Amino acid sequence: MDLPEIQQRLREFAAERHWEPFHTPKNLVMALAVESAELMEHFHWLTPEQSLAVGDDPDLRQAVAEEVADVAIYLIRLADRLGIDLETAIRDKMKRNAEKYPVHLAKGNAVKYNRRKMPCREEDQEIES
Ligand SMILES: [Mg+2]
Repeated sequence: MDLPEIQQRLREFAAERHWEPFHTPKNLVMALAVESAELMEHFHWLTPEQSLAVGDDPDLRQAVAEEVADVAIYLIRLADRLGIDLETAIRDKMKRNAEKYPVHLAKGNAVKYNRRKMPCREEDQEIES
């Protein structure tokens, strides 16, 4: 994905339509939430097994792809309007996640890092003992 090129095209898309006044961070965050809800709607009430099968239905997969794109577009646009380097932000967050969820503590479980029973920092060990 050529993120800078997509960002530029989204800027042009908004500028050609004189939509910049509407693309405030507040409005973009709200649009992102709405599009996320539209994405969720496709999975609402599905069993885990049915949700796994969504990709097997071409029509449903296409509908989901469109909502995924809507979410991505608003996220990219929001980052652009706030001067956030999205690629750097993602890479930084992935690094922090790897630190919070080391394989030896996180493998096979989905427990949030701050709810782990097993301490992983020296200061936690002192509190536990
Ligand atoms: Mg949508």
